[in-house]
Amino acid sequence: MQKISDTFCPAKWTELNLNLNYNYAYGCCKSTPLEYQHNYSEILNPQKKNLIDGIKDSSCNYCWEVEINGGTSKRHNQLVKFDPTTYDQYVNNTLPLDILEINLGNSCNLQCAYCNPTFSSLWEADIKFKDYPIFTDRHVYKIKQKNKKILDKNISSLMNIPHTTLRLIGGEPLINNKFFEMLEVSNAKNLEISTNLMVDQDILDRLLSYQHKFQKINISCSLDTTKDLSEFARYGINYDKFIDNLIYLLENINSRNTISLASLMTNTTILKLKEFQTVPLTLLTKFFKTFKWELHYCQTPRIHSLEALPDHLRPELISIVEELQQYPNIAGCEPVIAALNSIKFNAGIFKQFKYFIEEFENRKNIKLPQDIKDILYD
Ligand code: SF4
Repeated sequence: MQKISDTFCPAKWTELNLNLNYNYAYGCCKSTPLEYQHNYSEILNPQKKNLIDGIKDSSCNYCWEVEINGGTSKRHNQLVKFDPTTYDQYVNNTLPLDILEINLGNSCNLQCAYCNPTFSSLWEADIKFKDYPIFTDRHVYKIKQKNKKILDKNISSLMNIPHTTLRLIGGEPLINNKFFEMLEVSNAKNLEISTNLMVDQDILDRLLSYQHKFQKINISCSLDTTKDLSEFARYGINYDKFIDNLIYLLENINSRNTISLASLMTNTTILKLKEFQTVPLTLLTKFFKTFKWELHYCQTPRIHSLEALPDHLRPELISIVEELQQYPNIAGCEPVIAALNSIKFNAGIFKQFKYFIEEFENRKNIKLPQDIKDILYD
């Protein structure tokens, strides 16, 4: 068997993420989406070759940034699960795909402050009205030409790319009128979806009715912080409705399936982690078999990343995340700690963040909570 390369990561082979609205392909969900002309392998195969040849492919900067500072990256976690006897299948590119992620489109009922037009139709409408005065992340806020016949393309991908687990994201998949059609035609063993839970319970009942079809379902529900800050950072969310729907799912999901809470740590949401943690920790105690909490950190847009988090705030935040490592059902602590230690504060980025907040507040007629401003702007 060939020696395993130092830059090897199994997730580049086991996970394929397609956004057919823009011909984007990436593997894994943390690597950089890139546009292809004819087929996604144009993008993925050179990246795979680099990782086999000992080259740190730039699409995986999410991990290299953490590793360069001695942190534990997502790649390290992937390698823990990796069976070295299967390495040849990676080298020969014959490994069966595990996760196929399909982006259903950007139709969404939220305009999260750290999101953009590629993933939110509300952002697209806002940017169409007037651009945001942000230089560094200007490419993130660009409106891109969308492909036509997305459903046909998505369904043909389902049919022609063998996979074990289907993951559906958006926008908000549960308001996408093609979502249940995709579930109907899917022949995947397992299902994963990411949702903001801003739907009525009859939609959740319809989703739960597919528990008979899939061997395992994971529903990832996105909420990052406390009520007051959530209703700013995830503009349009009804926090109480979210919590009601989350508990409704936890009370009605079969024991072989899981609900995860996905929390994105930005330069603002992380500031209320100590307060917010009581919600997931309570649910972890009550639903320890079916509930898990996943922490992620924001890389782009940079104005919402840890580059816009002043250094003096980090030691206390690191100790809060370190405390959470003791819980088996909480994932993602190490990369967040490593990122807090390695991603440096950038005053220029922070200045642009303040411009953004002012603009967003004026447009949405909503205020970033004063206590957050007092901490950040101090
Ligand atoms: S190195 Fe990191 S970003 Fe790249 S595929 Fe592996 S886990 Fe994903």
